[in-house]
Amino acid sequence: MEIQKVGIVGAGQMGNGIAHVMASAGYEVLLNDISQDMLDKGLATIRGNMERQVGRGKMAASDMDAAMARISPTLTLTELGKTDLVIESATEREAVKQAIFEDLVPHLLPHTILTSNTSSISITRLASRTDRPEKFMGFHFMNPVPIMQLVELIRGIATDQPTYHSCLKVVENLGKTAASSEDFPAFIVNRILMPMINEAVYTLYEGVGSVTSIDTSMKLGTNHPMGPLELADFIGLDTCLAIMNVLHDGLADTKYRPCPLLTKYVEAGWLGRKSERGFYDYRGEHPVPTR
Ligand code: NAD
Repeated sequence: MEIQKVGIVGAGQMGNGIAHVMASAGYEVLLNDISQDMLDKGLATIRGNMERQVGRGKMAASDMDAAMARISPTLTLTELGKTDLVIESATEREAVKQAIFEDLVPHLLPHTILTSNTSSISITRLASRTDRPEKFMGFHFMNPVPIMQLVELIRGIATDQPTYHSCLKVVENLGKTAASSEDFPAFIVNRILMPMINEAVYTLYEGVGSVTSIDTSMKLGTNHPMGPLELADFIGLDTCLAIMNVLHDGLADTKYRPCPLLTKYVEAGWLGRKSERGFYDYRGEHPVPTR
């Protein structure tokens, strides 16, 4: 089945990035959020990022105008029922995602493929609550979407081959590379990445090193482009905590227990870059460690 229209639920840092790459590749995009403010901010971010691409000669100005014209923002979730492919990219909470699919299902076209950009939640479980588990899968982009090459494709237990191939075709049309993962907690990338970030938070919590020492050690000592605490702020500490909880609950192994300091930051509303404070404070000219 040829996918032409794509619906994206959630216009946060991931949703707006997905809208950006989809529209640039020629897909018609319906971008939904519960907040008008997030829709406005999402569109402004896409415009800003595309302008940067034009400035660097990576996109023609006329292509940018055409791509922006392909994105229609909407507060009405049910309008996304008219699309060929829905990518849910709302907050990483299972109850939120399930409520979205429940509201959407009665309005879907028979052929619509449902996907989630979840970083960790069971695709099989999300799919089982819809009317089409065979047309449901995980479509997991990396942050920042316009820059990162990888998309993880996750088949639930019931996902059929035509659905997988339709999604694979979309990844190819975006000029990105797909890696296939089985449906187990946090899939491949976050199964490996998040315990490292959580361990960096424990290292801070136990006083082994300061924020600067930990990030400098991992950048210069292991050639990571960002330190783990800087990266956690970039991902969002609420998302990191949610993923650790899914690993802990889903695999029932104490090695995945979230660091209490990570929980504390989230409880304080210090979610990283998106709330201007996390392991670093972003409110000044340069980020400075918060402890
Ligand atoms: P975010 O906090 O930036 O954005 C979430 C958006 O969802 C917000 O705009 C919020 O208003 C919206 N939302 C919440 N409930 C909604 C609803 N019922 N209907 C419509 N919109 C709703 O979060 P994010 O970082 O963009 O993460 C979104 C998803 O992408 C999560 O599942 C996350 O695990 C996944 N993800 C995140 C990253 C990352 O690095 N942050 C990477 C890959 C995947």
